[in-house]
Amino acid sequence: MKDTIIKKFSVRELDAELFTPFTISSGSHKSLENVLFTLEAAGGLKGYGEAAIATHITGETRERTVKSLKRAGELLAGRDAANYLGALCALEEALDGNRAALAAAQMAVLDLATRLQGISLWKFFGARVPELKTDVTVVIGGAEAAYSFTKKMRAAGFHIFKVKTGSDMDEDFRRLEAVRKAAPASAIYLDANCAYGAKEAEKFINALAARGIRPQVLEQPVPKDDIEGLAYLTRRLPMPVCADESAYSLDDVFRLIRTRSVSAVNIKLTKLGFLRAREVWALARAAGIKLMMGEMLESELASAAAAHFAGGLGGFDFIDLDTPFFIKDSGMRGAGFLSGDGIYSLDGVKAGIGVQPAGGK
Ligand SMILES: [Mg+2]
Repeated sequence: MKDTIIKKFSVRELDAELFTPFTISSGSHKSLENVLFTLEAAGGLKGYGEAAIATHITGETRERTVKSLKRAGELLAGRDAANYLGALCALEEALDGNRAALAAAQMAVLDLATRLQGISLWKFFGARVPELKTDVTVVIGGAEAAYSFTKKMRAAGFHIFKVKTGSDMDEDFRRLEAVRKAAPASAIYLDANCAYGAKEAEKFINALAARGIRPQVLEQPVPKDDIEGLAYLTRRLPMPVCADESAYSLDDVFRLIRTRSVSAVNIKLTKLGFLRAREVWALARAAGIKLMMGEMLESELASAAAAHFAGGLGGFDFIDLDTPFFIKDSGMRGAGFLSGDGIYSLDGVKAGIGVQPAGGK
């Protein structure tokens, strides 16, 4: 049998504790509860993929994702990993209704294919940008917590703070002032995760400006179907307005671009899988739309895969791949190319994603 034929697969739960709950306006993660998907080729090489379960955002559950990944494994067994595009297309058809599973299965195929080729996933996607520095998220909580977290992460070397807002406006003002006080020269991104109406968002941004706080990007200020609200804010606000929840499919992004409703799009592999994420990248680049690379709550494995994708293709204005810093020990090894101040040094990775579970090879 050829060494590149996919021989085995496994699906297991990937659990880990967090330092602090990851809370946004639409819900909260108290721990990491993802799924690990492993493929093994006849020659013994393995490829790994991670499914990020974010039920409060996508409606997808872990139970269903485990089932989908078992189906993906059966579909892939016997296929030649060297024909990775054939495998990715087959998964696209089979797993369209469960994007977390789609992303994980495609991640494992690409990890295996690039390990077999002896190149990194970053090289595979084009090797454009060797280093990416991520922002770090200030989750929803009190102003005191925002202050001490920002202070700590600023001291660790972070200088872009993505502040989650949208639970309580007065508290959000206090939190943003706390972030600015803790890191005066740092950049601020805002992400409301659908919490406002368009007029309310405009008021919020104007009130922040009056306090001297000018975010560099405003992500998903309004509910996902409020495309008019996005368009209104894109026309009225000085900073890019970025679609995240509103950009869940290729069709969504077509529509957002055609109607000139946003000036930036957040690409997440968990929303789109790798093939369509690549298509969204091309569409956005052609239309002059800015790009954010984002993720759900993901370990070093899926975060690094997203970094390879973004650094390989290039052209990303905002990098939001910080969730490994919220996880105590995901059990993943090899991620030394992600430094304590949030820099992914992708040109240091020899093959594949470069991250595997402890004991894996
Ligand atoms: Mg977001």
